Amino acid sequence: MDGSIDGSIVLFGPPGAGKGTQAGRIVKLTGKPAVSTGDILRAAVVAGTDLGMSAKGFMDVGELVPDEVIIGLIAERLEADDAVRGVLFDGYPRTIAQAESLENVAKVSNVISIEVPDDEIVERIVGRRMDPETGDIYHIKFKPASNKIQSRLIQRKDDNESTVRNRLAAYHVQTAPLADWYDERGLLSRVDGTRSIADVGNDIASKLST
Ligand code: AMP
Repeated sequence: MDGSIDGSIVLFGPPGAGKGTQAGRIVKLTGKPAVSTGDILRAAVVAGTDLGMSAKGFMDVGELVPDEVIIGLIAERLEADDAVRGVLFDGYPRTIAQAESLENVAKVSNVISIEVPDDEIVERIVGRRMDPETGDIYHIKFKPASNKIQSRLIQRKDDNESTVRNRLAAYHVQTAPLADWYDERGLLSRVDGTRSIADVGNDIASKLST
């Protein structure tokens, strides 16, 4: 069934592939708001809502939050006025059941798969740090912050090696099959995510304009 909202984009890929980084650029390019289920869940954990309390245990160990929780959260988000011309999904859908349910509420026009091998993912995520004041993302080796900012940087609770391995396992078992699912529907574009942020961004922009 066609969804009620046209023209949404899905950013697809393993944790640490650069989806959040590239989302900022695509938002500027398309004017569509980014919808990151990870960000929504983290905000709910901080706020201590029922949603946050039910999600926290899964997030801390790197497992997926149950589909029914995520599907409800997305239905609510898509009711906001800014979603009428479609949105940019970052980190959603992550299972076939989520993708099937998404078909009922929004029409996906493009799926961009950012591909990065597992070894590189672990190095990227374990060194990742965030500036809590701006939300900017740094990396201890690949994108160090200035001395002034460095002392206030924080690490996401689930960005440690053992949780990253679980998140990667969840990705390979539950999420990766979605690439074929979207490919069969003629929607998938693959992008090599091991290049510079600018090169990956240019590649995505060209895929979205064709
Ligand atoms: P992310 O910021 O996208 O890496 O998500 C962080 C964590 O939030 C994941 O490891 C999951 O526990 C949970 N999460 C985010 N999005 C989803 C989703 N679409 N389905 C299930 N769990 C999710």
